[in-house]
Amino acid sequence: MNEKDWKQQYEQLLQQHESEQDANRELEQLLSRTIIRLTLAAGGLDTRLDPHLKSVRDAVRGGVNRQLKDKLNALSDGLLHFSEETDEKSETYDYFRLVSTLSLSKKEAAEAGDLLHLLADEPTIVDDIQFARLVHLLSRGAPAKEKKSGLFERLLGGAHADQPSGPNPNDILLNLLEQASWPGHWGDEINGLKVRLGPDVPADAWAEVLQDLLDLSAKSYGQVQMEIKEAEDFLEELTQRLQDLGVHLQSAHDGHNQIAQHGRNLSEKVTGHVGDLGASVQQATDLQQLKIAVSQRMSLIKSSIDDYLHEEMEWHKKTEESERELQDRLDKLEKESSELRSRMVEAHHLALIDAVTGLPNRLAYEERAEQEFARWKRFNEPLCMLVWDIDDFKSINDRFGHQAGDKALRVIAQGLQARLRVTDFIARYGGEEFVSLLCGTPGDEALRVADEMRESVEKNGFHSGGKPVSVTISCGIAPFEENDEIDAVFSRADKALYQAKKSGKNRCELG
Ligand code: GH3
Ligand code: MG
Ligand code: MG
Repeated sequence: MNEKDWKQQYEQLLQQHESEQDANRELEQLLSRTIIRLTLAAGGLDTRLDPHLKSVRDAVRGGVNRQLKDKLNALSDGLLHFSEETDEKSETYDYFRLVSTLSLSKKEAAEAGDLLHLLADEPTIVDDIQFARLVHLLSRGAPAKEKKSGLFERLLGGAHADQPSGPNPNDILLNLLEQASWPGHWGDEINGLKVRLGPDVPADAWAEVLQDLLDLSAKSYGQVQMEIKEAEDFLEELTQRLQDLGVHLQSAHDGHNQIAQHGRNLSEKVTGHVGDLGASVQQATDLQQLKIAVSQRMSLIKSSIDDYLHEEMEWHKKTEESERELQDRLDKLEKESSELRSRMVEAHHLALIDAVTGLPNRLAYEERAEQEFARWKRFNEPLCMLVWDIDDFKSINDRFGHQAGDKALRVIAQGLQARLRVTDFIARYGGEEFVSLLCGTPGDEALRVADEMRESVEKNGFHSGGKPVSVTISCGIAPFEENDEIDAVFSRADKALYQAKKSGKNRCELG
């Protein structure tokens, strides 16, 4: 393998590392957002917890770090305290829970909770003004019956969202765990966390789950850091070996020059001896004298040649030895590099797979969308984006449980994928949403393909407890158009999906 190949191979490795770091950063941001939402949702439940919630929220803005862990520990302690006290005075907790179901600001909810508490404990202390204020707050905050909208409500759209229990942090975290796209190798851990947020768990189960989710993220971050360190060490060693190789080549070159110089010296010496021999022959007056002169010159020539051969042999031996040593080290290096490479390829692959469905995940979608977009700009072949969303999936979870919901996701994912060509692409975008890219396909044809995919989902359904369950899916389609950007295409497809839902679901709309 030449130096160029090494360089190329290591640039690739570094690129892979960078994209894994990006994935990690994205997860860290997601966790930070989760914590911020949870602390906002849990705010106002109890004034004693609110300062902790705020300090956790502030700490999270500084990233997932030691300080955040300390704040979370403080919050856990606070919660422990909170539940111990609420055991004794469970009505206090209930007042705060009760007011948390009202549409009041956090400050107003805390005020109403305090007043209710006071009214129950010491009714005689509550004056008319306070009582009027309480009535005002309670009547103003009575639950509104408007339609859910916005991200927060979307997150609340879990199994228990329709019960009048107000924002339930367990459900929020469960929904977030479901809607986020976790790396494939986190699958078992994430499932375990989901189970711990299932029905009938204590209201504060989310706090420990969140703590464990953070630990998981910190662990995985640590692993990536370790791998980076390993790769750095390896690169350092590689640089050292390449330097060794340079030194070896230089010394081989010097040795070669030296030997060539010795050869020239030898040739001069031999020429000198032969000249002297000629002179001796000329000067010799008798045969005996001539014999002695020739024999002396000959032994001088022989010893010069012997010296030269000896030096040359020594040099060859030395060169062979250092070449063998160098070769051994390079072999070892090559083996290490291919091991490292396959480990990184595997890790990269896992980071791009969704744990529940086995489909490419959102990160993989983002990578692929960039590639297809670049290809589309270059070759201008038609390209379509399809955004899918399962119909009434919440009710599947409600009727058959989350595990059945997960199974339905897998069956639907397989059904959608089976209908696609190998050059096309489908990923789980998050939750019960998928996104496909149909390459070389214009809009009307994409609509036909999407309709076939939709029909196959409808036809297959899935089984729960041995009984067939029907399930449908809707799709919005947007073709890439001149001067388009990926995000713009996605949002057109999403709008078309919204139209499909509005027009009765189980349909595909071309945007
Ligand atoms: P619509 O037809 O309007 O899309 O109705 P919907 O019920 O599908 O509504 P929405 O998109 O708001 O709700 C999606 C639900 O899907 C919420 C969540 O409980 C569920 N869900 C999302 N991801 C998963 C998952 O990984 N597993 C399970 N079991 N449920 C999930
Ligand atoms: Mg949805
Ligand atoms: Mg849906």
